[in-house]
Amino acid sequence: MRLYNTLTKKTEEFIPNNKNEITMYTCGPTVYHYAHIGNLRSYIFEDILEKLLNYIGYPVKRAMNITDVGHLSSDSDSGEDKMLKGAKRENKSVLEIAEFYTNEFFKNLDDLNIKKPEIISKATDNIDEYIKMIEVLLEKDYAYIANGNVYFDIHKLKDYYQLTNHKIDEMVVGVREGVEEDSNKRSQADFVLWFTKSKFDDQELKWPSPWGLGYPGWHIECSAISIKYLGEYLDIHCGGVDNIFPHHTNEIAQSEAYLGHKWCNFWCHGEHLNDKTGKMSKSKGEFLTLDVLKEKGYDPMIYRLFCLNSHYRKTLLFSYEIMDDVKKTYEKIKRKIHQINNNKTGNIRKEEIKNYQIRFKEQLENDLNTANALTVLYEVIKTEELNNLEKITLIEEFDQILSLNLVEKEKKDIDLEMKQYIENMILKRSQAKQDKNYELADQIRNELLEKNITLIDTKDSTKYEIE
Ligand code: AMP
Ligand code: ZN
Repeated sequence: MRLYNTLTKKTEEFIPNNKNEITMYTCGPTVYHYAHIGNLRSYIFEDILEKLLNYIGYPVKRAMNITDVGHLSSDSDSGEDKMLKGAKRENKSVLEIAEFYTNEFFKNLDDLNIKKPEIISKATDNIDEYIKMIEVLLEKDYAYIANGNVYFDIHKLKDYYQLTNHKIDEMVVGVREGVEEDSNKRSQADFVLWFTKSKFDDQELKWPSPWGLGYPGWHIECSAISIKYLGEYLDIHCGGVDNIFPHHTNEIAQSEAYLGHKWCNFWCHGEHLNDKTGKMSKSKGEFLTLDVLKEKGYDPMIYRLFCLNSHYRKTLLFSYEIMDDVKKTYEKIKRKIHQINNNKTGNIRKEEIKNYQIRFKEQLENDLNTANALTVLYEVIKTEELNNLEKITLIEEFDQILSLNLVEKEKKDIDLEMKQYIENMILKRSQAKQDKNYELADQIRNELLEKNITLIDTKDSTKYEIE
């Protein structure tokens, strides 16, 4: 498999540390608001990557954080705490906000058929890990204390900017929402590992630490969670392009300084989704969520297909016109697949389907070319070379990665079987009642109840309801 690696700026053959377990870390959401559909584009790309790795035979161990503390308005540790901002906005506690938006985020993942990472860890559940890591960084002299805060000294590293290729002085710290100078830092490019003093003293969540009551910086969360769950050598780390600097740059700095060796070989970044006004961002106030799309009549699968139509490393412009085109395409292919599925005939000829399997895989293995992989899917639907059984077999296989709900579950057959079973049970029960064997009659009712089937006795017959 070939993947573009932000670290080397090349598309390279992916070689894992251990073929029997690929370790993958993907930065999770800051749960102070709903995810916007731009955020969700990044999670779709990561989902495709994980599923492709599985498809080509690699077991993946993947971890993701939920940021519920430490992420300030600017990614470079200045400005107001995002969680606090959310809590104030809604007049709730930080933890209430975190719980609510974490659940909303999970609903989005479910709606979009995005597989949840095997390990999901809240930032607030790993405070001891951050403290341990910061203590080591202080011992090794990579970190320093100034006015109550602990900072990472980026000048202690030769290649702090290895991910971005920037020279130290060229880089402005920070960048998303304005920069504020922090006079405690030795250099403005240094970043915070632990805060005990911030301009915003009403920080709700604080923990005791060797440096006083405080809270962790945002960047340390991902390094510590990744090392805790995935070990000292990480295969792939992903995120959106805005994470490259400063977040991932800082993750590399503190992880490698702590571990004393190279940490992660492959860094993959998804480009942004923009709207007509520019980058989609929550700080702008209004932003598009998946629920808004649903309310407007777009199945989440249409948004997933909208994303898969373009390459993850290209900026994608959102528009309802394109969504409408995608909707038409999606409905058309679903109709065709439905017809194919209802007329399955023939035998599977392995050699015939192999050609399509290879081509589909080749496209995805070429730096996740989902658009070309979709073209192979459309060819399968159209071709006269394959019979319907072969087509459905391929479509189901491709959908393990695409996850577009292409083939409806075989409701018809299941329903028929279920219907016969229930009717049979109803017959047995009425016989039991006639025989005054009420124990058996109750037993039958309970057996059905366990399967969420409720019997309703009317004057002349018994009806049923399935939950
Ligand atoms: P956040 O919740 O802001 O920490 O972001 C969650 C994920 O979404 C990160 O991987 C970001 O890099 C990514 N992201 C943020 N904005 C966009 C966007 N407009 N398009 C695509 N991904 C984004
Ligand atoms: Zn992260």
